[in-house]
Amino acid sequence: MNICSMKNTFDLNKILRPHILSLAPYSSARDEYTGHSGIFLDANENPYGSVTEENYNRYPDPYQAEIKHKLSPIKNIGIDRIFLGNGSDEPIDLLTRATCTPGQDHVMILPPTYGMYEVSASIHDVIIDKVSLTADYQIDVEAVLHAITPKTKIIWICSPNNPTGNVMQSEAIRTILESFDGLVVVDEAYIDFTDTPSWIQHLDQYPNLVVLQTFSKAWGLAGIRVGMCFASPELIRILNKIKPPYNISLPAQRALLEGLGGIDKKDKMIAEILKERTFLCNMLTDLSLVIKVHATDANFLLVQFDEAKAIMDYLIHEEIIVRDRSRVHLCDGCLRITVGTREENEALIESLKKYQQKSVAA
Ligand SMILES: *Cc1c(COP(=O)(O)O)cnc(C)c1O
Repeated sequence: MNICSMKNTFDLNKILRPHILSLAPYSSARDEYTGHSGIFLDANENPYGSVTEENYNRYPDPYQAEIKHKLSPIKNIGIDRIFLGNGSDEPIDLLTRATCTPGQDHVMILPPTYGMYEVSASIHDVIIDKVSLTADYQIDVEAVLHAITPKTKIIWICSPNNPTGNVMQSEAIRTILESFDGLVVVDEAYIDFTDTPSWIQHLDQYPNLVVLQTFSKAWGLAGIRVGMCFASPELIRILNKIKPPYNISLPAQRALLEGLGGIDKKDKMIAEILKERTFLCNMLTDLSLVIKVHATDANFLLVQFDEAKAIMDYLIHEEIIVRDRSRVHLCDGCLRITVGTREENEALIESLKKYQQKSVAA
């Protein structure tokens, strides 16, 4: 393939599976009447209330209008470019389903990276092409462009990347956006922990760009399961068409409405996490059993140890749970450690020091 001559001719209608394009969505009761007052005898709900103290007897807003109204100025993006899902997992699944015909179409992933892109493709029997990141965890743009086939529908890019923690060079992402006729999804789950600007601001410029963010990390709302997907209004309409009608539950919507009023608290927690990240990084770097602490733009550290497996087992024995990534491509001997509170980080360091002394004594 001659890379220089490639030009973007993105057309959403060519990327979507034909039956999705022509699909008539389920029309829920709350689709057909969107007013707030009246006697609601349209959805077979319980008119008396709930068995719980708080009432949940009414179906939630299928399109989460109130939340999007609040979120739009926060993200500086139009409501028609926002989709909310049951965690980021849901838009990952819906994007795969909307574009990839099982057994026929391809997605591309850039390992080492987040596992859900591959799982989602596998669930749908979609063919997975893997193009390794470079040794310094950046995108091998030339290799990516050469691996694109006419059947490639999605390229998944995670930035800051999980589990490596680094941001992908923007020139690399730009080149792929401009050269590839399919969707380029940039997963920004960790965007709040870096100074690097979001790709959201480029959605106008690139109709094939999709940006994922989440409430699970910086906002501290992993338990309510809400992920954000930002894309062209055309693609957002498709996602709305194929999602389960009430994909964000009423308790989740209530918690989120409250949470969106708590930006100051979110920002304070981010500042605290960044401070702790520096602390933890310094403490780990000083340990002789640590080979390398990888630079990070996320709320975790990828740390290479001499004896990762033994240290992992030791930490579990100490009831400190980290993520073993030691058998992951390009992550030899690495554990992924989430930044905790000062107390938690100190407990981790103390345990590692104890392990270190034990192995010196042995
Ligand atoms: C944590 C994480 C998410 C968030 O997933 P949710 O389903 O929204 O909780 C998304 N992408 C990556 C890369 C992550 O690490």
